[in-house]
Amino acid sequence: MSEFRADPLLLGQKVVALLETGLRTATYKLAVLMALIDYAIEHVPSDADAPIPVPIPDLAHRVLELYWPQVRPFNGSELRQSTQTRARIPQAVLDLRSAAAVGTGGTSLAVASTRAPDAYEGTITEIGLCLAQQPLHRLQRVPGAADSECFLYDDSFLHDQISRRALRAHGDRIVLMPGVATALARLAGLLKPALEIMWVEDVRRMNRYLDEDIPDVAGHLFGRERLSLSVVRGPLQGAFGPRCFYCSSSLGPDSPIDHVLPWSLVGIDGLANLVPSCVRCNRSKWHALPALTLVDRVLARDQKVLDQLAADLQWPTQYDRVAAVARGIYRSQPPGSPTWAGVGVTDRLDLASPRWWLSTATS
Ligand SMILES: [Zn+2]
Repeated sequence: MSEFRADPLLLGQKVVALLETGLRTATYKLAVLMALIDYAIEHVPSDADAPIPVPIPDLAHRVLELYWPQVRPFNGSELRQSTQTRARIPQAVLDLRSAAAVGTGGTSLAVASTRAPDAYEGTITEIGLCLAQQPLHRLQRVPGAADSECFLYDDSFLHDQISRRALRAHGDRIVLMPGVATALARLAGLLKPALEIMWVEDVRRMNRYLDEDIPDVAGHLFGRERLSLSVVRGPLQGAFGPRCFYCSSSLGPDSPIDHVLPWSLVGIDGLANLVPSCVRCNRSKWHALPALTLVDRVLARDQKVLDQLAADLQWPTQYDRVAAVARGIYRSQPPGSPTWAGVGVTDRLDLASPRWWLSTATS
């Protein structure tokens, strides 16, 4: 396998070509790809040629997270995510919601899974099996083509009828081919928005009654309405000072909360990724990657203080995840890539100087 290393551009073209071929009968392929990209970002190896094992239960959790808000009613009814009458994954998600007695409200998956741990485990098993029987072994196949090349992971052991036992005997995992994790992480900023657009189009096609004038399907599916960050503003300012994290200007009561690693790229709402910001810096930074020095600073904030805030607010910190994601994103960028260092200030990416969060080994 190691004679082949994925070229990011070629890999991206292949992925897009697969997704543009034919009409999907469910949104599962899109979900599994998004989950794979997110997993890849958090597990970019220091040796780009290392194959990366991906546990299927981990993928199942990420897929569950994606569908968790989506199964809530939209305009009065649940959106179809499949052309089949019975859609396994949304049904499994709804079953977990009722087992945890959270209905279709805004309770987070994290809270629900602590309330109903057995049901959560059952849901992960069910979604994992569904992924193995359906999208994981179809993802790399061009519809109609007799033989397609596996270029992401070996899927030869997967099929429509694979049992839980057979899956376990195979380690309950797939293995990303050399270079694939790095390529997916590097392409995340392009692929993820494209996947979201395709997902919204699919859902519109599967729910014909949705007129063009029905607002914001994308907002419902991908949380563009976003959980309100305003509750963390006061506590963050109280703990770290009422100043802009980036330019130190003093902040008013309605100043923004900024995601240091862009929300559009990684979607981490944990406290470790959130800082008070002035409007000017917030607007200027937008979707840009922050300079390494800014990541240093955000990760250098006192973890005990963050943990205390997290406990008071019932809000996750996600410190380790922020560090892992930062490592993956920057490792996969070409040297010299522009990063945002302040309003009108661009730093060229230089990974030469040692940083603890960049060098930590990931397996
Ligand atoms: Zn500022």
